Amino acid sequence: MALRFYNTMTRNKDDFQPIQTGKVRMYTCGPTVYNYAHIGNFRAYIFEDLLRRYLKFKGYQVVQVMNITDVDDKIIRDANKTGKSIREFTKSYQDAFFEDLDALGIERAEVYPAATDHIPEMVNLIKSLLDKGIAYRTDDGSIYFRVSDYPAYGKLAHLNIAEMQRGARVQSDEYEKEEIRDFALWKGWKDDDGPVYWETEIGKGRPGWHIECSAMSSKYLGKHFDIHTGGVDNIFPHHENEIAQSEAGTGEKFVNYWLHCEHLMVEGDKMSKSAGNFYRLRELLDKEIDATAIRYVLLSTHYRQKLNFTFDKVEAAAKSITRLRDFKKSLIGNTINDSQQIRKIIDKYLNDFEATLDDDLNISGALGSVFSCIHEINTFRETNSLTEDDVQAIVEYLNRIDSVLNVLEVPENQLSDEEQTLIDARQQARAERNWAEADRIRDELLSRGIILEDTPQGTSWKRKI
Ligand code: AMP
Ligand code: ZN
Repeated sequence: MALRFYNTMTRNKDDFQPIQTGKVRMYTCGPTVYNYAHIGNFRAYIFEDLLRRYLKFKGYQVVQVMNITDVDDKIIRDANKTGKSIREFTKSYQDAFFEDLDALGIERAEVYPAATDHIPEMVNLIKSLLDKGIAYRTDDGSIYFRVSDYPAYGKLAHLNIAEMQRGARVQSDEYEKEEIRDFALWKGWKDDDGPVYWETEIGKGRPGWHIECSAMSSKYLGKHFDIHTGGVDNIFPHHENEIAQSEAGTGEKFVNYWLHCEHLMVEGDKMSKSAGNFYRLRELLDKEIDATAIRYVLLSTHYRQKLNFTFDKVEAAAKSITRLRDFKKSLIGNTINDSQQIRKIIDKYLNDFEATLDDDLNISGALGSVFSCIHEINTFRETNSLTEDDVQAIVEYLNRIDSVLNVLEVPENQLSDEEQTLIDARQQARAERNWAEADRIRDELLSRGIILEDTPQGTSWKRKI
């Protein structure tokens, strides 16, 4: 079966065909860095990580761009409150975002363009929309996109345009626009913005949110590229507006496949900053919850299904990860004969893994096949011993599936259960003044690449580089 994705544009599972053979260009809407991201946001980024890793598994070269929104109303409000420049204000949240990506084992995109580094590109796009007469200025120095000039508006969200109060004037809005559905490309400077503005050919002000994704995607991926992703809340208005700006501006088709992930929920509601029902990754890690277990929870439900976050799920995920890791550790080859039986089992399950993921990233099917494979190999082991060749084949299989799942290896910044047990045993030995035992455990940890440092505050560890 060919690789296919559910395309929000067609509401259909479409066969995937990249524009350029062997190469996939994809854009993913990134974080607004005015606070720490919550694990709901990371559900979207983990879905995109699965997509990216699976495309690479299939042999594609992937060029992924994720924007960093480092100017918007909330950033300006909060930065001005603290008296910091927006760059200073957003820096720590941006750093934290990358730390969180690493903790969750999310592979880095090729480019992370920041909105504030791309004002000229946005200005150019807005200028071309003004030249075409599709954008108009208002008295306060803002510039709007005139939706009635773009008849295809609504094609992604499948909106009934007639119901969108065409022609209704907006009195209450702080910016004076012609129609309620028109949206801001550029926001003219006002007192509340304080020092945050750019003096440009189109006036003094700052870009709207939607324009950054249109300008930065075309800069790094071209006017027409393969995949655009985000959470379902991005479909309207954000992605609809991106399409309008880009296609009206360039006259070309913008994106071939639109993929959206469903929300992470908490007791029936979307996890969100505004609802206050969110967990930040760092809060969970502070509670000694394993980052890979969180990755597993966010990864293992199909991306188009809502996922309710519970600590029971985290516990179950930790058990699944332990099963996988213990299985890998238990592999010992006893003979050198090659039975071929193991290779047959592995081929079958690797095919299943690929066939299920080909079907719109059916991750539960893929994980099911991995655990069935382990079960079948364990059953085989009850009556046969593994050869060295078998072990090599199994390890290759595990590494291959883990290039997509990324849960098997203990991350650099974490201890395995066994390593933690050794450290605890050494603490105990030290408490009992059993220095010989403490030194023995220290040496054993060192041979595993872990360096301990005893300080008055306790014992810290790091991995040998
Ligand atoms: P934001 O910072 O709100 O623009 O969100 C960044 C990304 O996270 C977007 O792709 C959103 O669609 C996504 N997102 C926000 N909340 C959730 C949630 N509860 N579950 C899944 N994705 C989310
Ligand atoms: Zn975007």
